[in-house]
Amino acid sequence: MKIAVLSGKGGTGKTLVSVNLAAVAESSRYIDCDVEEPNGHLFFKPQELQTHNEVTVMIPSFDADKCNGCRICTDFCKFNALALVNDKPLLFPQICHSCGGCSLLCPEKAVTLHPKPIGVIQEGVYRQVHVLTGIQNPGEPSGVPIIQRLLSIIPADNRINFIDCPPGSACVVIESIRDADYCILVAEPTLFGVHNLSMVHQLVRVFNKPFGAILNKNLDGENPAEYYCMEQRIPVLGRIPFNIELGRLNSDGQIAAHEKPEFHKLFTQLLNRVVQEVGHETIINP
Ligand code: SF4
Ligand code: SF4
Repeated sequence: MKIAVLSGKGGTGKTLVSVNLAAVAESSRYIDCDVEEPNGHLFFKPQELQTHNEVTVMIPSFDADKCNGCRICTDFCKFNALALVNDKPLLFPQICHSCGGCSLLCPEKAVTLHPKPIGVIQEGVYRQVHVLTGIQNPGEPSGVPIIQRLLSIIPADNRINFIDCPPGSACVVIESIRDADYCILVAEPTLFGVHNLSMVHQLVRVFNKPFGAILNKNLDGENPAEYYCMEQRIPVLGRIPFNIELGRLNSDGQIAAHEKPEFHKLFTQLLNRVVQEVGHETIINP
């Protein structure tokens, strides 16, 4: 079972939810697809850490002897990763999106593609949680290939997989939810939070994914995100209270569910609700 956890912006509680749900599940996997700024491993501090699976993309190089300076490649490159200098193409590798078009179009066969590392995948273990983390090298234009690799190496086993998505609704998020069986939308109780919730809500609807919302940082009183869920008929899976102790544990990089029984109960109840929604038969005792 693959459960993706999304939010329209960073700081909403996406990692808090993913990490703690994985922590209270009996057998789980936490997959950090927020490859630009992965931070789930800071909570798990996984053991038996291995860094492997270097992820590469193909970028072009140019044979100056074969190139006649026709400009076909530079005119084609919509990412402006190529400029013609002294009638020869000059590549700006940090902008190249590895589409391979310049190589296909070159009439002189002067372009060859070669691999460039853009990141790695880290793997480790924390108690019963298998922790997988995608790490994008600074300055790379897209984390999509790392996310694709990360999700392709998930073993087919009985663990519940929690996918901690990048914030927002861009292509990296689309890639992260592509194979998800269920999506959890994490929302904040503000008007801005409603705007962010509506972004990811539209996304999961476009991709026809089953979904529900977790309302984070709940205070007594009106919650615009809850009104939005009522209006849009989004199932509310649970509410996480605005709680100083929870915030302190989280900002200290601790797994709240393993530090305080009240938080263990809270996240176990949330997990049971999520599992019920997905139609899974396993129920864990709080
Ligand atoms: S398309 Fe080929 S021949 Fe033309 S400028 Fe580019 S590399 Fe040179
Ligand atoms: S591979 Fe694509 S993005 Fe990169 S330089 Fe060639 S045309 Fe531009």
